[in-house]
Amino acid sequence: MKRHDIVDEFVQEIIDGRVKLHEVERLVNGDSNLATVIRRRFLEKVLGVELKNIGTYSIDFNEVVGRNCENTIGVTQVPLGIVGPLRVLGDYARGDFYVPLATTEGALVASVNRGCKAITLSGGARVKVLRDSMARAPVFELPSVEDVPKFIEWVRSHFNELKKVAESTTRYGKLIEITPFVAGKFVWLRFSFTTGDAMGMNMVTIATDRAVKYIEEEFPGARCISLSGNMCVDKKPTSLNVVLGRGKTVTAEATIRRDVVEKVLKTSPEAIAKVNTVKNLLGSAYAGSLSFNAHFANIIAAIFIATGQDVAQIVESSLGFTYVEVVNGDLYISVTLPSLEVGTVGGGTRLPTQMEALKILGCQGSGNPPGTNALKFAEIVCATVLAGELSLLAALAAGHLAEAHVKLGRGGVRG
Ligand code: NAP
Repeated sequence: MKRHDIVDEFVQEIIDGRVKLHEVERLVNGDSNLATVIRRRFLEKVLGVELKNIGTYSIDFNEVVGRNCENTIGVTQVPLGIVGPLRVLGDYARGDFYVPLATTEGALVASVNRGCKAITLSGGARVKVLRDSMARAPVFELPSVEDVPKFIEWVRSHFNELKKVAESTTRYGKLIEITPFVAGKFVWLRFSFTTGDAMGMNMVTIATDRAVKYIEEEFPGARCISLSGNMCVDKKPTSLNVVLGRGKTVTAEATIRRDVVEKVLKTSPEAIAKVNTVKNLLGSAYAGSLSFNAHFANIIAAIFIATGQDVAQIVESSLGFTYVEVVNGDLYISVTLPSLEVGTVGGGTRLPTQMEALKILGCQGSGNPPGTNALKFAEIVCATVLAGELSLLAALAAGHLAEAHVKLGRGGVRG
């Protein structure tokens, strides 16, 4: 039977209700490329829509299904821009970098690019990773509050055993601490690991699950209510991640010379400092925000999409603070990201365009030694966030924000 006849036959079986969408792989001997075509054709037929662009790609779905996505029908394309060169003076990233940004927001790439230019002309962004740990926090129920102190003491005194049990599931995950939190008879144990070059969420979930089973076997009366007790905290905006950190805690600073502020950013250090104080500090406090910055999320989202990070983690990865002051007439600016969750192996980083984007940054795959590629990547991300903050604050100080969006977000300028 020809390929299109096979496709038509299975499409008809789905329409007749004899096959469910998620069962198609099984019927075509696990060929996810063929299953993808069948599901897409089914939708085209029953909905009367043409999915030509969703169906145009270079991805091998046999590499995707079982790792990255289920019930596949094709791809979504997002335009990819580039900013740079951006000079980064980190412990792992040292030199001039071009940074890929995937976005549909006109003016974003141009604006971040302007920030890169100002930073590079002024000598570069100094960057430090202050902490490196990924957390999973199961919640346990004890028979009574009377058991809670004994339980916490037991966990503390059995740390080495728990570490051995948890680390038996991974070559790269290393348990560094277990932090208890209590509410009545419930105890959350926040397990924190270093995770090499992986963002680590699967790794620490699997490792913590093994430790949880050990605790339940060894401590009478302790029962795990949920492997994730929302004190981890994954994909929710929280003060806890800001204070304790999750993923990489990173900070970057630069001193932008007054002449560069005037020529490149078209404003003054004083005007930028005032906008930062009134907008990012006063305005954010008034609004009850968890995040005292102008648009970390814009840069984080664009890099996450380009490089295959878990995009739902933009929530906590874009928390953080921007600080600005005028020093000897020049502009000092810093950004701090307490909870930047990134990796260069695993998850979506193994997809073809995402791998290529990481190669542009010189940090695709495992580092040598392991962990150094993810640290390098985190430093570049933080420096790019600094460039984005600088440029947007300058645009606001100069009164250019709306104008830039008319030109670059409404089709006003081509070339
Ligand atoms: P992963 O792809 O599940 O695991 C990373 C794999 O890479 C491991 O098998 C690890 O080996 C291996 N590896 C090879 N070289 C490595 C190196 N240099 N450093 C670190 N690991 C290396 O990725 P993950 O980062 O743990 O998890 C990310 C995925 O979790 C994403 O797809 C994300 O969407 C998803 N996620 C899961 C949860 C959850 O609750 N499970 C929550 C949020 C997101 P070992 O096997 O020896 O460790």
